[in-house]
Order: sequence, then structure tokens, then C-alpha cells
Amino acid sequence: MEWSRTRRDLFLKCPRAWYLRYGNPITSSGIPESQTSRRPWDLMLRAMKEILVERLEDLQEGKQWSPLLLEHQLKYSLQKQMDQTPNGIKKRYFEALLRYANHRFALLWRSRIIRQLEQRKYPCWYVLDRMESVSIGKQRIYASPDLAVLIQNKWHLIRFDMQSAPKKSSDEFEANAMVLWAKYRDGFPQSESAFRLHTIGWRRGFWHSETFQPTKDSVEQSYKLLEYDCQAMLEVHRYAQSNLAFLPLATMKKTCQSCSFRLRCPGGENLAIARQEQTLLELERQFVSSKT
Ligand code: SF4
Repeated sequence: MEWSRTRRDLFLKCPRAWYLRYGNPITSSGIPESQTSRRPWDLMLRAMKEILVERLEDLQEGKQWSPLLLEHQLKYSLQKQMDQTPNGIKKRYFEALLRYANHRFALLWRSRIIRQLEQRKYPCWYVLDRMESVSIGKQRIYASPDLAVLIQNKWHLIRFDMQSAPKKSSDEFEANAMVLWAKYRDGFPQSESAFRLHTIGWRRGFWHSETFQPTKDSVEQSYKLLEYDCQAMLEVHRYAQSNLAFLPLATMKKTCQSCSFRLRCPGGENLAIARQEQTLLELERQFVSSKT
């Protein structure tokens, strides 16, 4: 089972959407479902992330980007993402997405840590690959930070969220997953106190920063919850193999409104009715199995 924050978020919002995107990954066209079912907005966020990593890597080599170069790179990356979707988008929408991305980027570049890196305040820092996973037990964990910066003998692990969900109690648990990732990877210390965690996420028009100090207990707790997530995902996956119609639907109507599967899911049309129909189907199934 694979765990990442993105997978977890979707699983909690709608197990059915999670299964359609990650549980059954290959479409009839052979393209991974996780790619074809992305909304243009999500592709813009993905393009931003790609360019952020490229720009940070250049910063590490002492190369600065002009606003013109930034716009060009964002445009190229966004176009590349859109080319992989079955239906393109209108030019005006594309340009609007590009403007959003440019705006967010300009504000991100004013954040404290980026300015400090530009000023060469810290000699030891690394840009990390989010796609680099570690295996813990039977789980594959995608929890790499985007940056690791050594500041006064402590590793500051920093994650950028291009679109952050409202603040929630599980934020610390999700941030602690970065420590788990670091401990299972060569080159980082084993002690939790050797780390400090930062998440910088875009929420309601601003970049918000949160900081956590991990402890042995909080990281252990994080691992337990992560295992619990994976177990729940495995159960939904098994359940879906027998009949997709019984998979739990979204908990909130607004999840369906922005869901890329809504055209092929009963919940997309009317979540309340789809839930009632599902309950009736379930009762019928129980009735039939009690007769046999
Ligand atoms: S339309 Fe709603 S219920 Fe159906 S998969 Fe999407 S979020 Fe889930």
C-alpha cells in the first residue's frame, strides 16, 4: 500500500474517488488514471511544484531567474501537463491559470526561508525529490520534504503545499511523516530532536507557515496512524474488487462538485440519492446472502 498526504486527503474525502484514482490505476487507453483524471486546476498546482523544484535547484547553483524566465518556464510546464489530458482547455482559462501560478510564485519568493537561501545564509541545504519514497514494513511512504536545510546542527525539513487544506488537528501527524521518511533514508540523523519541521502552504490568498518540533512519541504516533490509514485503504481496495457499487461515497457534497469522476459516478449527480440507493443495494445484498 502506498501512502502520501495527497492520497490520504482524497481517501478521507471520498474512498470511491481514492479507489478510482489510485486503486485501479490503468485506464483502457493505458494511461494512468491518476494522470487522466486530473482537473486543470490540479495540473496548474503540479506545474507550479515542478517549477519550484527547478528554480530551487538553480538557486543552489547560484542562478537567479528573471520574471520573464519564470513566466516562460511556468507556461511550458503547464502546457506539458495539459497535453497529457484527453481534453485540452480553452486559451482564456489557460492564461488565467498561468496568472494565478505567477502570482503565487511571486509571493512565495518573498517568504523568509527563500530570502535567506537567496542571501546564502546557510551553506548546507538540499532540494529533495517528492517522488522518492521509502519502504517501512509493507508500506511505501511518499513523505519527502522539498527542502532540507541545516541550521545550527538541526535539520529543518520544509514542505511546500501549492494548495493547502484548512488547518486541522492531523497537520502535525502529516508533518511528522517527513521525519519517518528521513530516518529511513541515508544521510540523516536518527534522533527526532535533530529535526524541526515546517510546512508552507497557500491558503485563502496567502502563504501560511507552520512549525513543529517532533519528538519520539509524536513520530511513533504518526507511524501508527499511517499504518491505520494503509490498513483502511487496503480494506477499501479489497472491497472494491468484489463490487465497486458498494464503495463508500463522499462525506460532503462539495467534494463531488470538484471531483473529476462525477460524470461516471452516481454521487456526482445527486450524492444524497446515491447514498440512499447504495443503502438499499446493501440491504438487498444482505437479504440475499441470508437466504443462501
Ligand atoms: S462524484 Fe462524489 S461520490 Fe463520486 S467519486 Fe467523486 S467525490 Fe466520490
